[in-house]
Amino acid sequence: MRRLIDGNESENAVAYCRSKKAFLTPKLIKLHKCLQIQCTGLMKLDCKYWERRQKRKDAKKRKKNDS
Ligand SMILES: [Zn+2]
Repeated sequence: MRRLIDGNESENAVAYCRSKKAFLTPKLIKLHKCLQIQCTGLMKLDCKYWERRQKRKDAKKRKKNDS
């Protein structure tokens, strides 16, 4: 179990935030806005979540370039 930034514990953490000293689930990443505020403490954990996220991003980019 990993301690999350909201004080809960979860097995589904996908990142660690050094400024918060706690883990984040995909849901918490949106809430904490680590990516939007470019939180320097964010460390991505090695997991499928980021791979899927990148794939979604790439697909979006391709769509944009087509039109
Ligand atoms: Zn953060």
